[in-house]
Amino acid sequence: MRVCGAGRAAARATCRDGGPAGVRQRAGRWRAVGRYDHCVSDCLFCGIASGRFPAKTVRENSRTIAFRDINPQAPTHVLVIPKEHYADVAAVAEAGGGLLDEMASLAHRVAVAEGIGGSGYRADFNSGPDAGQDVAHAHVIGGRPLEWPPG
Ligand SMILES: [Zn+2]
Repeated sequence: MRVCGAGRAAARATCRDGGPAGVRQRAGRWRAVGRYDHCVSDCLFCGIASGRFPAKTVRENSRTIAFRDINPQAPTHVLVIPKEHYADVAAVAEAGGGLLDEMASLAHRVAVAEGIGGSGYRADFNSGPDAGQDVAHAHVIGGRPLEWPPG
C-alpha cells in the first residue's frame, strides 16, 4: 500500500503528526508507522474523508463522516467511516478514545435524520474478505423491511 505521499495536502487534513498511531512526518513525507496506516493514498474511503473523491455526505463530525452508498440496497443506505484509516472494526475498537462510539452514534443520528430511527434500521460492520470488507466502515440500511439473515 502506498501511504500518504502523493496527496500531502489531503494527508495533512486527516493525518496528524504525533497522533496516537499510524503516521509520522519524516523528511517531508508522511510515512506509516505502527499498526495502522492512516490516510492510505489509494484508499477510496480516505479519499472521500479528505475530500479528494466526491461523495454525497449526509452528516459529519470531527472524526467520522457519513455518506450515501453509490449502490444503495435500500431507500436509506449510508456508509459511516472514521476519517482516519483503520483496517477493520477491531482496529477501530483497539484505537480507543471513543471512536467506535462516535461511529455508532453517527449511524443512529443518520437513521433519525433519514426518518427511520423509529421504524428501524440496520447498522452493521462487515469484517474480512468473506464479508466484502477491506477497510473499516459501517452500513446504515433501512427504509424497508429488512430480512434476516442478510444475504
Ligand atoms: Zn482508508
